[in-house]
Parts: sequence; structure tokens; C-alpha cells
Amino acid sequence: MDLSYILNHLGEDRERYYDAVSPPIMQTSNFAFPTVAAFREALADEQRTAIYSRGQNPTLVMLNKKLAALDGAEDALCFSSGVSAISAAVLAHVQAGDHIVCVHKPYGWTRTLIQDWLSRFGVESTFVDGTKVENWAAALRPNTRLLMLESPNSLTLELQDLPALAKLARSRGIATILDNSYAGPLNPSPLEWGIDMLCYSGTKYHGGHSDVVCGVLSGSRETIKKIFHHEFMTLGQILSPMNAWLVLRSLRTLEVRMQRIAQSTPVVVEWLAQRPEVERIIYPLHPSHPQYDLACQQMLQPTGLFSILLKTKEPARIEAFVNRLNRFLMAVSWGGHESLVLPSIIFGDPANPNPDVPINLVRFYIGLEDPQVLIADLQQALTELG
Ligand SMILES: *Cc1c(COP(=O)(O)O)cnc(C)c1O
Repeated sequence: MDLSYILNHLGEDRERYYDAVSPPIMQTSNFAFPTVAAFREALADEQRTAIYSRGQNPTLVMLNKKLAALDGAEDALCFSSGVSAISAAVLAHVQAGDHIVCVHKPYGWTRTLIQDWLSRFGVESTFVDGTKVENWAAALRPNTRLLMLESPNSLTLELQDLPALAKLARSRGIATILDNSYAGPLNPSPLEWGIDMLCYSGTKYHGGHSDVVCGVLSGSRETIKKIFHHEFMTLGQILSPMNAWLVLRSLRTLEVRMQRIAQSTPVVVEWLAQRPEVERIIYPLHPSHPQYDLACQQMLQPTGLFSILLKTKEPARIEAFVNRLNRFLMAVSWGGHESLVLPSIIFGDPANPNPDVPINLVRFYIGLEDPQVLIADLQQALTELG
């Protein structure tokens, strides 16, 4: 199925709503049935029939079809946030006595879920440096049920060899879940390499306008069905019809947004790489990245998130540089139209820095602006470090 078809037509039944080009927002909590027999039949499969909007809703059905097709998956489910998609997927695979191996330094709330929360319910975990397949193999135990992957991981952008890890996990009957938020839905789908499930913060590239928080989960029809009837319905992780509609609106421009980002990010990265104030660029698709070859195999299209290490480690000077940027908004999240900056000095006390994240690390996200405007802004702010 071609991308233009997915983004513009798939799942849209226009003749059912007056041939409107933009689909309706089915802003309803419940759906009525004409007969007891029809009601009973609908209850037999709540994933397929809209009964109550904690389960299914036509605006979400349309979105789910597009999300599955984007990943080349049998099925997909949208969630109220990326974290709710991740937690539903992880919870669906473990019970007390099981063991999870997770990449170290994953997204913070993924770590909280596995380390602090699931440990209360008797699920063990090991966090490994994910760059070497041997580290994963060495961490496996007889009760390991799940590999939790994030490639590249948050902030430090280290990759995992996804085909090799999928093979390792399958040979042991272990499931694999990949947080694919960084590479996004237009890069090659890791499902093709044998990864079992993909999850995303749909807040990022799917949403793309910084006006909606949502999550995406894709995988086999069987697993999505199981998660729908258990974790999704029980924990109430539904996306509202309005927010589902906002994501449908956003998907119309997904391809052009990602093309723009793919063109402009390497321009800004290359400019920064030449600057004397910058010690190192951390961008998987820059030749200086230690896993550049692996990144080229796993990501065909560059995306917008990267970090730099500044030469200075003086918090006051780093602060002055970041404060002086005008065109980069200082904020969390990423994936929207607006370029962003996030200095690691905001995490914790500068006198007692987080050992996982270098104090001189500054994360950038390149949005849809003109890269030359962004470079000019960086140039004037870097004078603080000259
Ligand atoms: C933002 C993010 C999440 C969390 O998604 P929410 O939509 O904020 O719940 C998970 N993983 C990664 C890699 C992220 O960047």
C-alpha cells in the first residue's frame, strides 16, 4: 500500500458522512442498538464494534487502520499517551516471577515502570548497555520474558542491533518491544526484522503540531486483540475522539514534515560539528557517531533529534548560551513544528549531576523552520562560549 493512499484515503468511508473530506469527530460516549440481538452481537467483540468510547469509536478506528499500515503491522491501537502504550505493551507480557531485560537509559518513565513499579509486583529486571548483543545475551535468565528496546535511546542516542536482538529473542521464545519514537513511522519498519511490537509517543512525529498527547502500539492481530481486551479496556487508556481527529489531521502532512526535517537537520548538525565550542555531536546519522554504519542500515531518513556535548562544563556558561537562543524554544518533548532546546543541566542539582547524562549535554530538536535561521541563532548564542 502506498504512503499517499494511507495518509489520504485508508480507513475513510466518506459516503457514510455526507462525503465530507475531513472526517467527523465522533464525540459520543456510547452507541445505541436497535434490537437486543444486535446489542448482544456487538458485545461479543467490543474491539470490532463501537459500544462505549472507552473501547472503540469510529474516529479511532480510522486512525488505527492508518497507524497499522504505516508500520506494516497487522493491527495497531492508539492510546492516551506514549507512556500508556508502553505500559500496556509491557504489562501484557509479564507476570510475577518474570524477568525483563531493558536497554539502560531508556525514556525516564519506561525505567520507572520497569524498575520501580513492576518490581512491586514481583517482576525482576536488568538494564544493559544495549550497544552490544553479547550484553543482552549475558543478561538472559530462564524466566526472561521480554526485551524492552529503545533505539536510539533517549538523550544519549545509542543504538541496538535490532535484527540481531530479534533473532536472539525468538530463539529463546522471548518477546521484543521497541520504542520506535526516535526513528518514527516512515523509516523501515523494525517489524520486518522480527521485532514483535512497536510503540511510539504519537505526541512526537505522528502528532507533529505540539497540540496533542497520544501513543501508538502496533503488532500482530492476536497481540493487539489481547491488549485491547485486557490492558487497554481495564486501565482505561483511551485517546479522546477529538485528539484522534487531531492526529488524523496531522498525518496528512506527515510525509512532507519528515522530508523537511530530513533535509534541514543534517545541515544544522554539520554546522555545529565544525564549531570550536562543540566537543562532540551525538547524531546517529553523522559519520562521527560510533554506530554510524548500524544507523545507516536501520534509518534511511534522518530525523530531527540530536544532542551536543559542549567543551565547557561550567553550568553558568551553558546556562547563558541556552538562555540566549531566541528561535529554539526551551521545552520538553519534540516532533512538532517548533525547534527546541533542552540542556541536561535542568535535570537535578548542578553540584551533584546525574551520572547517566553528561552535564555539558544539550539536546536539540529541529522543527520545520528554515535551517539558516536556526544556524544564525546558534551562532549569536555561541558567542557566550567564545
Ligand atoms: C516522549 C517519549 C515517550 C513518552 O511519550 P508521551 O506521549 O509523552 O507519553 C516515550 N518514549 C520516548 C522515546 C519519548 O521521546
